[in-house]
Amino acid sequence: MTQEPSERPVNWSMYLHVPFCKRKCPYCDFFSVTDRSLIPLYVDGVCKEMQIWSDAVSGRGHMPMHTLYLGGGTPSVLSVSQVGRILETVYRFFDVTTGAEITMEVNPGTVDAGYLSDLRRLGINRLSIGAQSFDPAKLSFLCRIHSREQVFETLAGADRAGFTNLGIDLMYALPDETLNNWQTDLDTVAGLQLPHLSCYMLTLAPGTPFYDQYEKGGFSPCDPDRCSDFFVYTSQVLKNAGYLHYEVSNFARERKFRSVHNTHYWERGAYLGVGPSAHSFLPGVPSDVDIPVSGRQPGPGKMPGVAGHTGPVRAWNTTDIRAWLDHLAAGHLPWSGHEILTPDQETMEQIMLGLRTDKGVGVNGLCQETRELMGRLAAQGLGAFFNHNGPDFSIRRFRLTRSGMIRLDSIVEALIQGVMK
Ligand code: SF4
Repeated sequence: MTQEPSERPVNWSMYLHVPFCKRKCPYCDFFSVTDRSLIPLYVDGVCKEMQIWSDAVSGRGHMPMHTLYLGGGTPSVLSVSQVGRILETVYRFFDVTTGAEITMEVNPGTVDAGYLSDLRRLGINRLSIGAQSFDPAKLSFLCRIHSREQVFETLAGADRAGFTNLGIDLMYALPDETLNNWQTDLDTVAGLQLPHLSCYMLTLAPGTPFYDQYEKGGFSPCDPDRCSDFFVYTSQVLKNAGYLHYEVSNFARERKFRSVHNTHYWERGAYLGVGPSAHSFLPGVPSDVDIPVSGRQPGPGKMPGVAGHTGPVRAWNTTDIRAWLDHLAAGHLPWSGHEILTPDQETMEQIMLGLRTDKGVGVNGLCQETRELMGRLAAQGLGAFFNHNGPDFSIRRFRLTRSGMIRLDSIVEALIQGVMK
């Protein structure tokens, strides 16, 4: 018997996108604008968007939120009272579970010790600090607004405010960067024993100033062999420093410091995305729930093809802040598109996301055909990149080795071609 999605116990997460930055970094393709005059309207908008969601599911009890993540953009350009109003609204419309992980991204150069203490007082219990580097030359190349000293000040302020769960983002594999150079950043974080680290290679995203420079021949990105050396080196150095490499780009000093919110994404948990450009992932939409989306309903509030669908729905908000505000003023969710995932797409996502992590992909969720395909691939050309060899169908999970992780895209491609053929 098909189960109504509403009958399944669902643990929800919420991602709240804050699309404002002080300055645009030349490598960044996240949606954000530097005109901050719209922030007050934006804050009204996110509160309204939460209310629309809450109304859409009214009668079913509040949605239990076990993580909340304020990301961006630069959420720390909001004032303390604006953050407070957003959090109050979350608590008003949703059941934030006891012990929920509530993360906010903060950038050095936008916060001081008082601001961080206020965030702690408001209930933020995890910080993600956009440091990118401790090296002044790297910070300058990346056009970051902050200095090395401001990274240390932010860390000291977070410590004084009582944050015990925090992480920083670091960027590596910049043009001309050497392993020795990168080692200095790694030594610094290892010395600080920070609970969580996210280490990303600089990638060239179309539409960014760095990409334009690359197209004009003025920028040499990291070649695949060098990237692979950097990746393996990073993993080894941080492992030696006591960190768990639990996802391609993420390291935790102890299991309890893994990001619960991001793990929820990798495990394909349900989440609401609030704010311009935010994505939502719904495990299904019960037939009696109206999703009020502009221009799609033949009757009040109905969304044909989505309401009553037991399959997962992925939806994305418009990136136009004015259009986002207009949708909300009309009482609609500001979706600019959605898709209902087919079983093949679900399998593909499960493999793609699962292989990113040290947990890998559980065989239980895969059909027999896919399990056999993965077993065969693990036994054939890709064998060296799996944590096990041979078509051992008694194994419970498929996991990648470190060398496999750096080839994640091509491995997933091979698996997907097999699954989709
Ligand atoms: S501060 Fe972050 S979100 Fe803003 S432009 Fe720079 S990298 Fe992008």
